[in-house]
Amino acid sequence: MYKYIPYGRQCIDEYDIQAVTDVLRSDYLTTGPKVEEFERKVSEYIGASYAVAVSNGTAALHAACFAAGIGPGDEVITTPLTFAASANCVLYCGGTPVFADIDPYTYNLDPKDVQKKITSRTKAIIPVHLSGQPCDMDSIHQIAKEYHLTVIEDGAHALGSEYKGRKIGCLSDMTTFSFHPVKPVTTGEGGMIATDNKALYQRLLLFRSHGITRDPAIMKRTDGAWYYEQLLLGYNYRITDIQCALGISQMGKLDRFIKVRRELVQRYDKAFDGCDNIIRPYQMPETRSAWHLYIIQIMHHDRKEIFERLRDKGIGVNVHYIPIYKHPYYQKHGYAGIYCENAEKLYQRMLSLPLYPSLSYEEQDYVVQCVENVLKE
Ligand SMILES: *Cc1c(COP(=O)(O)O)cnc(C)c1O
Repeated sequence: MYKYIPYGRQCIDEYDIQAVTDVLRSDYLTTGPKVEEFERKVSEYIGASYAVAVSNGTAALHAACFAAGIGPGDEVITTPLTFAASANCVLYCGGTPVFADIDPYTYNLDPKDVQKKITSRTKAIIPVHLSGQPCDMDSIHQIAKEYHLTVIEDGAHALGSEYKGRKIGCLSDMTTFSFHPVKPVTTGEGGMIATDNKALYQRLLLFRSHGITRDPAIMKRTDGAWYYEQLLLGYNYRITDIQCALGISQMGKLDRFIKVRRELVQRYDKAFDGCDNIIRPYQMPETRSAWHLYIIQIMHHDRKEIFERLRDKGIGVNVHYIPIYKHPYYQKHGYAGIYCENAEKLYQRMLSLPLYPSLSYEEQDYVVQCVENVLKE
């Protein structure tokens, strides 16, 4: 019997710890040189012109919606099969999330249903690359172009994922990332927004810190050296130098992390090949997932029972995600009549198996053996 095997976890080594303690001995604990260095590391990696690091992935989504000008009366189309933050960010700005159904193979937004959900009030689309599998971005961009919509990709699962040879993060108006411990790399809590648009970049910078600037180029007037101006209503969404030092160190290992995740996925795929009680994850052609999650569908069995039996064996299986509109808050606020058939069907069957860079082959073999056993019982 193994100790508890979670579905995901961070991978921290002595270099990470050294990087953090070095900052603790330095002059800056927050908003020092490490923030820009981390932003540069990530923006260079994904091939985006600008990046703004913030306190978490949810703040990144909020900032992106703000920069896109989302406000009361605006509709933003997203997937129901994601973490609540992908839609909450629209509510923060007074806008209305609209849920389009998913594609039953990729589990991502179905562009055909996105098209059906467009109204005169639609302002933006938030595609989410679930599990790291890139969305059908060409189709989404085509729709966005036709209806003049902003595209904000939620790339929380997809740092290092590739779409037609390009990294997620340089394809749309803005892309957000999360550095929560289960995500591809971690800063404890942390997030980032990537963009190629300078005007959006400047709005994101202001939003991160109260809407305040000291930049003479954008201030209304100048005065003494103490002088600064608040130009819009922002928040304190800053990230610390302590966190960014960890992020810089983690970025150096991202490609290795992804390589290990891909090897583990191949081992799962091989182990479940030919098992007609399991549908393995499908990969869209011309994409490469960074494999944040390994999501299987449980067929001919009660998923809840399988989930509980695996948890009893110490395996931290999980379900990603409960369709957002089913949450009591959304049900109470106008979404009681919403039903996305493909998302509901998948939700009944889906199960995330453990997947993270430090998962050993022995632990993975134990997971596979337990899954096979509970499906036989
Ligand atoms: C984790 C996650 C977020 C939010 O990121 P936090 O850093 O936890 O705030 C948003 N969207 C998706 C899809 C996520 O998985």
